[in-house]
Amino acid sequence: MTLKTRFAPSPTGYLHVGGARTALFSWLHARHHGGRFVLRIEDTDLERSTAESVNAILEGMTWLGLEYDEGPFYQTHRFDRYNQVIDALLEKGLAYRCSCSKERLEKLREEQMAAKQKPRYDGHCRDRDVSPDEPHVIRFRNPLEGEVEFQDLIRGRIAVSNAELDDLIIRRSDGSPTYNLTVVVDDHDMGITHVIRGDDHINNTPRQINLYQAMGWEVPQFAHVPMILGEDGSRLSKRHGAVSVMQYKEQGYLPEALLNYLVRLGWSHGDQEIFSVDEMIERFDLKDVNRAPSTFNTEKLKWLNQQYIIHGDPARVAHLVSPHMGDLGIDPAQGPDLVEVVKAQRERAATLVELAQISAFYYRDFEQYDEKAAKKAFKGEADQALRAVRERLAALEDWQREPLHQAVTDTVEALGVGFGKVAMPLRVAVTGGSPSPDLDLTLHLVGREATLRRIDRAIEFIQSNR
Ligand code: GLU
Repeated sequence: MTLKTRFAPSPTGYLHVGGARTALFSWLHARHHGGRFVLRIEDTDLERSTAESVNAILEGMTWLGLEYDEGPFYQTHRFDRYNQVIDALLEKGLAYRCSCSKERLEKLREEQMAAKQKPRYDGHCRDRDVSPDEPHVIRFRNPLEGEVEFQDLIRGRIAVSNAELDDLIIRRSDGSPTYNLTVVVDDHDMGITHVIRGDDHINNTPRQINLYQAMGWEVPQFAHVPMILGEDGSRLSKRHGAVSVMQYKEQGYLPEALLNYLVRLGWSHGDQEIFSVDEMIERFDLKDVNRAPSTFNTEKLKWLNQQYIIHGDPARVAHLVSPHMGDLGIDPAQGPDLVEVVKAQRERAATLVELAQISAFYYRDFEQYDEKAAKKAFKGEADQALRAVRERLAALEDWQREPLHQAVTDTVEALGVGFGKVAMPLRVAVTGGSPSPDLDLTLHLVGREATLRRIDRAIEFIQSNR
């Protein structure tokens, strides 16, 4: 039988990092074993599910490269099938109609709480043969005795006594099927062999296993992934900053960096930190997933992102930074080759947004000087140094690194000053104070026209600020 895993989000918001990590583990497990990966949209909660959220999930999956082999399947398209299964359970006496009123259930609950018992349905309608004409829900007839046991691929053996489980509602009074029923029908029908999901569902698993057994279906394997915490130890949420995958895209993270971060969040392979997608696929094993929750650390994600910017293919980084240049109103086609700019700047930025910001000066005149840099560079005789170097630069025939470097050192020599006396004001004149590489490379990329124009502007600035 083909190994098959799935990701089954409820479309009630964006794709958050916790969901993305669950999806990644599921995807890796399938890819590692040459299996298939299914995407299923669990949209039965009609009030909270939205089309935007479905789009956000699909967009996030695509951006991360978590391509699915089957789906997306929508649960709302499968109501007939769920009803068929519910009817079959009714027919076999494995489910029954329950007409208990809200008031009765509420009272029961209060009594149980007062007696310090776990609130659970007492089976009042189990043998009452409620008429279909009465308002009712359908409950699953959970076994009363024995225990449900399974071997969780992350947590190990888990056993729950049936006495702990009550008769689960599988169809609401409005006729809609409930989560525990739909998930079992789908995982069975879709041939899922490994259910990998967040451990917030771990209490549902024994109930679901009972449903599989009632239907006579093979029970899949389960792996429950521990949750992700914020740095204060509480469950990761918006309070901790960005949690939506697409927010990371906007903030200038590379998808491969976020994937790498997510895979290491609760999984390890020796002390290796950097994994290409191929390496993840090769090395991923559910048995190496931590049982304890992991803590989300933005600094580490940032560090990884920087590694991918520095060591990634510059053409790819250029491709990814380009829209962030666009956000700054820059068209990178109008100026130096973006790939060359990326190579020149990549060690100075942790995100693509930063990379775009510190590279803007190659494409357009900056609005103002960085105050600190200008103060330091534009003092004393800086205007004269600039005038002198401008003359030599203007005379160059070839705007290449070598002659540019020569022009600067010749100026330094002619003026009889230290290199910094010329280089510093020149650098700030041309870059505005933005982080930049070697001066000759900077000038080469900025180009002749802009360099000379910016030197004139700096001379004027210095003189008017005397
Ligand atoms: N739809 C559920 C959720 O978003 C997941 C169900 C499952 O994986 O079994 O939490």
